[in-house]
Amino acid sequence: LANRMFHPEDTIVDVNGLKIGGSKVIMMAGPCAVENRESILSAARAVKDAGADMLRGGAYKPRTSPYAFQGLGTQGIELLTEARRETGLPVVTELMSADKLDEFVENVDIIQIGARNMQNFDLLKAVGRTKKPVLLKRGLANTIEEWIMAAEYIMSEGNPNVIFCERGIRTFEKFTRNTLDLSVIPIIKERTHLPIVIDPSHATGDWKLVEAVSLAAIAAGADGLIIEVHCDPQNALSDGAQSLKPENYASLVEKGRKIAEVI
Ligand code: PEP
Ligand code: MN
Repeated sequence: LANRMFHPEDTIVDVNGLKIGGSKVIMMAGPCAVENRESILSAARAVKDAGADMLRGGAYKPRTSPYAFQGLGTQGIELLTEARRETGLPVVTELMSADKLDEFVENVDIIQIGARNMQNFDLLKAVGRTKKPVLLKRGLANTIEEWIMAAEYIMSEGNPNVIFCERGIRTFEKFTRNTLDLSVIPIIKERTHLPIVIDPSHATGDWKLVEAVSLAAIAAGADGLIIEVHCDPQNALSDGAQSLKPENYASLVEKGRKIAEVI
């Protein structure tokens, strides 16, 4: 179902009127996690002012350590809804378990499937039974073939609204958190008709690298970027080291829009 051979035209995923996969590069931004009311509202206002199209923020967090901040759960979803009401930005947030599916269908605009769940086939089938747009992250150590098959799991249940998201893969290189595979942009576009978004934050793990990689991704044909932005990265409860301050994000968006115009 994802195969370009049987579907030559690009699929445009419609998120309540916002089109992903069309001519505009869609900018998704916000903190790694929803931490509290003040911080998500200030981040939402800041990314909106910087020109973002969507708000990100995890309410359910897949943390490496069980002792690390696990997210606010339902309260986090409510805060995202409040931030959307105030700014008008649609929200994308991660679903970790199918038992929260109804909450997500009711309250979020894009359901994110995290890298760690890319091959959680029951979860893929569950989101496949809805019509919600799904942002499908590539697994930490998954091939492109496996990633496309994960999309098939969602689509074969009846949901055509899949957006790929490359967020870097594990390699021997330790300088960056992960290694961004930019070649997936033309490969996914050749093999499938679905949109692809790049996550330069998790790919690099370092805010200083985020701008360069983002601009390269736009030049390579990405349909969007999902970037971590925090008003006070040093005190962030997760992923502060890779989070941009709003002013740096604003300048990235400005440069990115210029590159998008010429390609
Ligand atoms: C995230 O987007 O905050 C996240 C946990 O991403 P990933 O699943 O790519 O690690
Ligand atoms: Mn994160």
